[in-house]
Amino acid sequence: MVKTKTKAKKREKCNCGGFKYTYAKANDARKELLAVHVCFKCGRFKGESLSEEVIQLFCTEPELLMHMIHSGYLKRVG
Ligand SMILES: [Zn+2]
Repeated sequence: MVKTKTKAKKREKCNCGGFKYTYAKANDARKELLAVHVCFKCGRFKGESLSEEVIQLFCTEPELLMHMIHSGYLKRVG
């Protein structure tokens, strides 16, 4: 994250003091279908527009969330 200021959004802070990063599904520019705020310091995350089922899934299988991020399915937006 050593880039010059790109669309500086207010960054949320986690309870642990780390920064939260926002990832969103980016196949539809008009509307973010889902967004996830992740703190990589403690692994906490918060979902937006996520069903309870999906949140449970991410809780039990965090690797899935990581995979979605690394594969580019979820794009970093904040
Ligand atoms: Zn945290």
